[in-house]
Amino acid sequence: WAKGEGRGRWAVYDPERSARDLARSALTAGLPAALHRGEFVVHYQPIVSLLDGAMIAVEALVRWAHPERGLIGPDRFIGLAEETGLIVRLGEWVLGQACRDAEGWRREFPSARLVVSVNLAARQADDPAIVDTVAEVLERTGLPADLLQLELTESAVMGSAGEPLHSLHRLAALGVRLAIDDFGTGYSNLAYLRRLPIQVLKLAGPFVEGIRADDPATGHRDERIVDALVRLAHALELGVTAEAVETPEQVERLRALRCDTGQGRWFGAPVPAEEITARLRREGTR
Ligand code: C2E
Ligand code: MG
Ligand code: MG
Ligand code: MG
Repeated sequence: WAKGEGRGRWAVYDPERSARDLARSALTAGLPAALHRGEFVVHYQPIVSLLDGAMIAVEALVRWAHPERGLIGPDRFIGLAEETGLIVRLGEWVLGQACRDAEGWRREFPSARLVVSVNLAARQADDPAIVDTVAEVLERTGLPADLLQLELTESAVMGSAGEPLHSLHRLAALGVRLAIDDFGTGYSNLAYLRRLPIQVLKLAGPFVEGIRADDPATGHRDERIVDALVRLAHALELGVTAEAVETPEQVERLRALRCDTGQGRWFGAPVPAEEITARLRREGTR
């Protein structure tokens, strides 16, 4: 391994590390071709109303259908795509695919008013061209802007200049909804929350996982954090989505804490678009 920077830098050959680096660079090298060959797929995870259990939105989550290795999750390649800049083209592809699928659902199930929520990488959000990209995709696919939600992390919102992105106001002016992803895990500048055109806070999984945890100390503390964050969101007239909801006990507590919507394995794992279509058909029109 290599340690330190500049002066006093030293390196020792580590076969395990080399193998890992090799696998990593092979993955990185394969990304552009994979995009070209159409090996990426978008899965969708239901976001459900905690009031009545209705599926009101789906989050678009990209996967790489690797011809030899099978389905590769985004945690394995999104970081690499960000480093190389490919995230801009990949993200644009995901956005287009998600809006196309959402427009299909809107046509087949108009009264469901299903929203599609798409993750924006920091690098995408930081590029002023994002506003034109989103406008162009909405126009091309026909999806009404209010059926698109964009998720940004706290650090993406703050941008590389260290202040909230100007683009957010221009995106909001298009009529799309904006959500803060993994809220509570990043660099929280609470001042921006009341100034930015945000509609939803997504509470990071670890707080939700901590509710009713086996360790009462941790469990109670996480529950109080969720309670406080829900109150904060509602005071600012924002909606709250709990991520990583896995058990009926969590649903019960989240409901008691007045959390608006939930997402997680309890409500359904990320699935191919056809399964969302099937679920809409099953749940019928409300
Ligand atoms: P995220 O946006 O916070 O997405 C939620 C993650 O939680 C997803 O992981 C989802 O599969 C996972 N999850 C679902 N149910 C549960 C549960 O019950 N418990 C727990 N612990 N986790 C659950 P996934 O699909 O592996 O995606 C990981 C991250 O990759 C995403 O986190 C997002 O930051 C990023 N990502 C995914 N797709 C895209 C994309 O198209 N563009 C960008 N920029 N990032 C993406
Ligand atoms: Mg997300
Ligand atoms: Mg999240
Ligand atoms: Mg995340």
